[in-house]
Parts: sequence; C-alpha cells; structure tokens
Amino acid sequence: MLRHRVLFPFFVISNGVAFIYGIASGIWWVFITTISLALAVTAWGAFDIRLGYFIATKFRKKNPPKKVVALTFDDGPSLYTSEILHLLALYKAKATFFCIGQQIKQHPDIFKQILNEGHSIGNHTYSHPQRFGFLNAEQIIDDIKKCDAIMAKLVGHTPALFRPPFGVTNPSVAKAVELLNKQVIGWSNRSLDTVIADGEKIYERVKSKVRSGDIILLHDTSQRTVYALSKLMMYLKAEGYACVSVDDLLNLQLYED
Ligand SMILES: [Zn+2]
Repeated sequence: MLRHRVLFPFFVISNGVAFIYGIASGIWWVFITTISLALAVTAWGAFDIRLGYFIATKFRKKNPPKKVVALTFDDGPSLYTSEILHLLALYKAKATFFCIGQQIKQHPDIFKQILNEGHSIGNHTYSHPQRFGFLNAEQIIDDIKKCDAIMAKLVGHTPALFRPPFGVTNPSVAKAVELLNKQVIGWSNRSLDTVIADGEKIYERVKSKVRSGDIILLHDTSQRTVYALSKLMMYLKAEGYACVSVDDLLNLQLYED
C-alpha cells in the first residue's frame, strides 16, 4: 500500500518541477494539477483510517476461520454504558471500549464495570479535542499520556491499543503513536450512530454491511445506539456470529506492561 513516507518526496519533487515549469513557461495548469492531486491524496489519507496512509492501522481481520465480529464503543464511559454492558452480557458477547480519560474521571465505577465484565479497553485520548487533526505531536502525546495515566491507575496496566478521535491520522499522530508504541485500531464497519438519529436506521446500516472479521464502530453515548445494539445482537446471534474483543480478533496484546 502506498504510504505517506513514500509519496511525500514524490509530491515535493513533482510539485517543485511543475512550479519551476510554470514560472519558466507561464503555463500553470500542470502545477495546479499536481498540487491538487497531492492535497486530495493527503486529505483522503487523513480521514480514511483504513488506508493506513500515515500509520500502520488494523481495521479488520481477513478471512477469519469462523464467523466473528469485534464490536467497539468509543467516547464513553457514559450513563448509557451500563445498558450496553447489560446487552452484551445477555448475549455472552465481548467488546472493546475506547474510553476518553475525562469520561473515566466522571464515571470511574462504570469504567471498572467494563473491566469486571471481561471487556477490553483502549485509549481514546484524555480530552477528545475537536481540533485533534491540528494538534502538534507534543500536544497529542500529552493527551494520550494523560488518558494512559488515569487508566493505569484504575487497571494497573497501560493500554496498548489506541483509536484516534474521529479516526484522523496525520504525520503528528503518526509521530505520537510511534513514540508511545501504540497499536492504532480503526474500523471496517462504521455505524454513524453519532450522525443518524434513528436507531432502526443505525441497525440497518451496520447489518447491511456486516462481514466476518469486521471491526464495528459504535458509541456508548446514546439511547439510539442502545436500541440499535439490541437489534444487532439478535441478528448476529441468528446469523451465527461470535462477538469478541479487538485484541482477541487480531491476536494483539491489550496492555503495554
Ligand atoms: Zn471519539
């Protein structure tokens, strides 16, 4: 797969040549084309975590030996997390929760409940900054470390798995996760449950796309997701899918220590 490290020098050289050609000839469409291509590829790489353009990411399991999916819940813990845990327990399903440090601080008991019920956890930053894509590497490292610290205090271990807010990756995020030695986890089935208001439609969307080996992105932050999950669990059971944690699906280490 083409990576940023490979393409970036190519973009610099091709844009440089096209720019010089523009100055010499007065013909600028070549430069406009090369710069547009470079910007489009970079933006696509930043917003589609599955491309692994800036960082090696894991987003699904290819050809699993049995029917299996990994449910993941971002942005909690919240007051909806307990209902999600109840549903998961009902179906003997395991999931992975990418928690926000600030949310853990507000709901430490719910966070402990996630762990006590045998689910996996990952780092989703301390403050989930809206401007995540514009932070420098040091700011990103600080935010990830702050979440690590609050998790380590309650779990006794530092999480190895990390999911960037909004799934955004760029050279600063790449530098931060490399330095902190985090495994970046994306998704292959996005529910859009923070955008779609109707739980039924969220369920239909996930169901229509589900394939064995999928990592499904949900958020434990709303009643509509609880509703969608209640129907999804029924469907997955009827179709013979097992629900496992991301570390189980991909055979990864959950903690750094
Ligand atoms: Zn998030």
